Amino acid sequence: MGVPGNQTRGEAPAGLAETELFAVDAYRVEFDATVAEVDRDNGRVRLNRTAFYPGGGGQPCDLGSLDTPNGPLTVTGVRRDGGPIWHTVDGEALPEVGAGVLGRVDWSRRHALMRTHTALHVLCGVIWADYRIPVTGGNMEPLHGRLDFPFESMSTDLGAAVEQRINEEVARAHEIVVDFVPRSLADSDPALIRTAADLIPREIDPLRVIDIVGLDRQADGGTHLLSTAAIGGVRVTKTESKGKGNKRIRIEVVDAVPGS
Ligand SMILES: [Zn+2]
Repeated sequence: MGVPGNQTRGEAPAGLAETELFAVDAYRVEFDATVAEVDRDNGRVRLNRTAFYPGGGGQPCDLGSLDTPNGPLTVTGVRRDGGPIWHTVDGEALPEVGAGVLGRVDWSRRHALMRTHTALHVLCGVIWADYRIPVTGGNMEPLHGRLDFPFESMSTDLGAAVEQRINEEVARAHEIVVDFVPRSLADSDPALIRTAADLIPREIDPLRVIDIVGLDRQADGGTHLLSTAAIGGVRVTKTESKGKGNKRIRIEVVDAVPGS
């Protein structure tokens, strides 16, 4: 079990824990770093470490700012290009390689995305628990998201039933832990097999796993809350058919359980 207040379990690879701060602490929004590379043509910088999530797995990237010796820069986009993470910036002058910078992630956007991403995992967990149907795709924006499930048919009251079940699991305040699982163990974990963790390249070992303890467990690179209670509440805004055997469920994250 995870230690309260410490959301990681298992040993994070040292390189990851030191350079991709978002991977081990989703609540860290300020960090100091050194400029490792400057791409003047494309107006972007690479840092020796970063708390900016570069986007991926359906979760959009973080935005924010960098304070540099040459003045402040606005971070307008963050992207993983091959291996390294690049921060696209807007401002008067780019810093030099070796300069010290202070990074600040826009917390209101990050936190909204954490609530949304965790809410989508709760939706996955509920659909699997109640219907034994795995998720096949999805996307999210701050406070809005959607997931696709291969339901053969969908009853008209599915949306209301799912909304009630999601909010029950929110209220249960499931602890959420970032787990690092050796590939040798991941291959025999039913939850990870179900969520197709075997499609992740073999050289990624250990796998980073988001464990909503007692509800849902899947390989994932995103940033998540410490407890499902921190989601607030969820509304199912729409259920729609996207062709035979593909149903889409849209949610909105709200501040409290609807109707409470
Ligand atoms: Zn996810």
